[in-house]
Amino acid sequence: MADSAISSALRNLVYERAHGCCEYCRSQSEYSTQAFSIEHIFPKSKGGSNLPENLALACQGCNAHKYNKTAGLDPLTRQTVPLFHPRQQIWTEHFAWNEDCSYLIGLSPSGRVTISTLKLNRRQLVNLRRVLFAVGEHPPF
Ligand SMILES: [Zn+2]
Repeated sequence: MADSAISSALRNLVYERAHGCCEYCRSQSEYSTQAFSIEHIFPKSKGGSNLPENLALACQGCNAHKYNKTAGLDPLTRQTVPLFHPRQQIWTEHFAWNEDCSYLIGLSPSGRVTISTLKLNRRQLVNLRRVLFAVGEHPPF
C-alpha cells in the first residue's frame, strides 16, 4: 500500500534502487500509464516499517494483488510458502523469462507462489512484454 508518510528522498531511493522497475514483475515505470507504488514488503497493517529494507517499488497491479499478503499456496506442491522478498532474495534465483520473455517462470517455491498470487503473467503484462521485446526494450535488465 502507498504511504504518504514516506519522504520524497526515501521514495527516490526506492525508485533508483529498483531502476524504475516493479520489483516483482519487472514492469518499467516509464512504460506504465499509472505511477508505481512504494510497497511495504511486510505490510504496514501487520506492523511493517517504513525503513528502506521493508520497501519495494511495485506496479499498481502487483501492489493491488499483493495487498497485505506475505505468503501463498505453491501451485506445484500445495504448500504455503512466503512470497518473494525483494530485499532478502535475488530475483534471478526465483524467476526466469520464457524464450520470448513474455512469461515469467518460477524457479523456486517463492517464485511460483509470487507468480500465482500477484498474477505476474497477467494478460496485459504479457501483451506489453511482447511489444517491448519486439522493439528491444524488454526485459529491462
Ligand atoms: Zn509488477
